[in-house]
Amino acid sequence: MALVPLAGLLADAAAGGHGLGAFNVICLEHAEAIAAGAERAGRPAVLQISQNAVRYHEGRLAPIAAAAREVARASTADLALHLDHVEDRALAGAAAGNGFGSLMFDASRLDVDANVAATREVVEQAHREGLLVEAELGAIGGKDGAHTPGVRTDPDEAVWFVEATGVDALAVAVGSSHAMTERTARLDVELVARLAQAVPVPLVLHGSSGVDDASLVAAVRAGIVKVNIGTAVNVALTAAVRARLDDDPALVDPRRYLGAGREAMAARVAEALKVLAA
Ligand SMILES: [Zn+2]
Repeated sequence: MALVPLAGLLADAAAGGHGLGAFNVICLEHAEAIAAGAERAGRPAVLQISQNAVRYHEGRLAPIAAAAREVARASTADLALHLDHVEDRALAGAAAGNGFGSLMFDASRLDVDANVAATREVVEQAHREGLLVEAELGAIGGKDGAHTPGVRTDPDEAVWFVEATGVDALAVAVGSSHAMTERTARLDVELVARLAQAVPVPLVLHGSSGVDDASLVAAVRAGIVKVNIGTAVNVALTAAVRARLDDDPALVDPRRYLGAGREAMAARVAEALKVLAA
């Protein structure tokens, strides 16, 4: 109960056949909502701060990391702090000192050889600091990276990539796509099963907001361990904020609308965690 490393949560989820929900933190209210949702569901969860979120906070990692870390420490749920979609090596180097137990290094924009070389260097440094590293294999096709619909991770290439880089978890392209606001993605569950069979580290699904509950459960049963959900919870948060502001054009106290957004997000997080526990 508190701030725990991702490694243990991944191992528990893999052993139990559950999905581990990972949610993006942009503001303090996101961290509070994830903690509240995890407590309500009685499940662990991951608080992830992306490089884009750090950029939003004027390039400063420390304030938002401190906020998320302290929310996790105060929670009765087991919560991991994870640095997500890092492309900047200096930011990767700041993870350990800011309380992160893991990071995702994303060199998927590079061609596969450059991806391997850059990822291996980050893994060596991160392992010296006791961090777990997730990476993404993205040079399989499609210039928008591994999450482009139609792009798929090849199992043989994934095995080779994990061995060549030493990564501890692998984000795979199996039909989901980032930032979808409708749940219309069609997952290749048969490919998930083949990847899980072949790849010796836990598999991660990005872009899960576009995937319906039944497909998420099927993906977890087939071998996905960590499930990243960003957009779906922001849809809930923003809808509640918009409704509150529309209801009362004279409203000015941010607590009144941010509080409604936080509550809606907590409910959505709890719902997602219950689905992943099934
Ligand atoms: Zn992602």
